[in-house]
Amino acid sequence: MTKILVNLIPTILASAAGMPSFASVNENFPVSPPRAWAEIDLGALRRNLAVAREAFGGELMVVVKAGAYGHGLEEIAKTLATEEIAFLGVANVGEARRVRNAGVDSRIYLLGATWAEEREEIVAREWTPCISSLEEAEHFNRLAAGRGIRLKVHLAVDTGMGRGGFVAEHLAEKLKKLDLLVNLEVEGIGSHLPSADEDEEFTLRQFAQFHAIIDDLGGEARFKWRHLSNSAGLLGYAQGCCNLSRPGLMLYGVSALAGFQARLSTVMTLKSRVTLVRTLPAGHGISYGRQFVTTKPTRVATIGVGYGDGYPIHVSGKAADVWIRGRRMPILGRVTMDQIMVDVTAAEEVVEGDEVEIFGPNIPVAEIAEKAESIVWEIFTGITPRVLRCYF
Ligand SMILES: *Cc1c(COP(=O)(O)O)cnc(C)c1O
Repeated sequence: MTKILVNLIPTILASAAGMPSFASVNENFPVSPPRAWAEIDLGALRRNLAVAREAFGGELMVVVKAGAYGHGLEEIAKTLATEEIAFLGVANVGEARRVRNAGVDSRIYLLGATWAEEREEIVAREWTPCISSLEEAEHFNRLAAGRGIRLKVHLAVDTGMGRGGFVAEHLAEKLKKLDLLVNLEVEGIGSHLPSADEDEEFTLRQFAQFHAIIDDLGGEARFKWRHLSNSAGLLGYAQGCCNLSRPGLMLYGVSALAGFQARLSTVMTLKSRVTLVRTLPAGHGISYGRQFVTTKPTRVATIGVGYGDGYPIHVSGKAADVWIRGRRMPILGRVTMDQIMVDVTAAEEVVEGDEVEIFGPNIPVAEIAEKAESIVWEIFTGITPRVLRCYF
């Protein structure tokens, strides 16, 4: 029996098939059973972490921002925190609180700039901010002095992302002023790669620039932590002086760089069920806008997932498939809010109640993202709260 932990209620659901059955969901849920759910394989998450560790060789800041890329912040943070990780990377103070409230005591790193109102709490709870300006540094320094502590911070340097960090020019001068802030300990330096998955030449230059900056500032010994790479940087590039890496997407089983996908395991499988099967006559429109009209009698399965669950409407008309009873079946017409229609003419065995893989091991999420003219990061983070996350 596979144990499944459902995140909405503190109940372990078990089912022989390894997925929430109608029955168990009904018994345990005060609300109606979910039409769509995401099965999240924590073993696969751990395996992907091991791949990251092996490929990098140094320590890891595991990125769990945006609800762990839609996989569920608390459960993912709890799982990763039992592995040897240096930091959990979050986007904001709200996420940091949720990680702590889940009982996770790993170090927390805030990946972006902070607002002045947030800093008191950051200092009090000794989360680790990255610093993009002297003003920010001075404020943190005052707050840390008020508490009589030395706050560990990382210096953020902009080597091409254009989103945050000190601009690289005259950095050494600016740092002299930082050195006077005695209640800050600049224990790390980081930068970010905007195009590690698209532009090798630029990325190599960024690595060289980052190394040169560290040399300029006094060498590797000055910073305990030196980090530049996201998943694509980690997988695709030699890391030189870096001893910390910040993988996100690859932990969730998707490689932004072609060629590494086979080493990763699928973590999230989005599933639903067939709610209805009917045969429509030739000349019958399907879905809003009637962009698809049958040309022959067509057996159509209606499935309980739609853009209200985060399945992208932009796959409409792009011949996206779902997986039922071991084969691909094409979606017909537009994705609606709660339902999609699929051509099952070729599969007489398909019946109401059949389980459907929307994406997962058989229908790669990257394929859905491509058809939707989106990116996997957006598809994952767009899976809505209505979709029950089941962990096993
Ligand atoms: C989101 C993020 C990452 C992780 O990026 P992936 O491409 O998902 O691996 C790393 N570093 C920073 C600063 C980020 O914002």
